[in-house]
Amino acid sequence: MIKECQACGQNNLLEAETSSRGGYGPDLLPGTGSFRPARFRVVVCAMCGFVHWFVKEEDLDKVRNSRHFRPVRNQ
Ligand SMILES: [Zn+2]
Repeated sequence: MIKECQACGQNNLLEAETSSRGGYGPDLLPGTGSFRPARFRVVVCAMCGFVHWFVKEEDLDKVRNSRHFRPVRNQ
């Protein structure tokens, strides 16, 4: 998927999985379920710190089916 940092071009990348929603935190992917909301795959460049933010591939359908998300309209 991602092989090099979009900011600096290095390939020293670190990844982790994190929830889009906590008990008292914001709901960052609304409408993707309260029991098992969609998760993020966060890829951080170990060289410059740039963060590449993805929805986990297996959770993408939850976002696609959420009524909170709609296509971006370019003006
Ligand atoms: Zn970088």
